[in-house]
Amino acid sequence: MYGVVVCPRCRRAKGVDLAQKTTACACGFEIRVVPAKVRARASTARELAPLVGRVNAELAGGADVAAEASAPRRRARSRDVHTRIVAAAASGDRARRTRVAAAELTRELEVFSLEDWRKVLAGLGIPDPEAALAELVEAGAVYEPRAGFYRAVSLIP
Ligand SMILES: [Zn+2]
Repeated sequence: MYGVVVCPRCRRAKGVDLAQKTTACACGFEIRVVPAKVRARASTARELAPLVGRVNAELAGGADVAAEASAPRRRARSRDVHTRIVAAAASGDRARRTRVAAAELTRELEVFSLEDWRKVLAGLGIPDPEAALAELVEAGAVYEPRAGFYRAVSLIP
């Protein structure tokens, strides 16, 4: 079983194998994995990425996360994140739009998954999101702080 925990120091969500007792955050803080503090659960590591993005989106929105019953509202909010980013990245050539998209995703979600990236690039009408992401990684504009999660190096594209 996998889950999403939030770093008490930097308030960033992180996916974790729940068999672990602790996990190191990107900020360096050692997060204790306490069952009561697990924000979302998934049976496979693959399902974790969108959950981490969702929890980060909730944190960015200042949502009260105790309200498990508000799942539809939460989904609406995380969809808003992608819609906002599509709007922010809608102008310029393809290279410009992908850089703005990566910077905005990082600003909104701290780290973004391929799933987030696909949604935004689909909204921008840019085909082959994997290739576009690989180009940014090769150019040094985006890095992968851990497997499956990406960050723009700079928030100013
Ligand atoms: Zn942290």
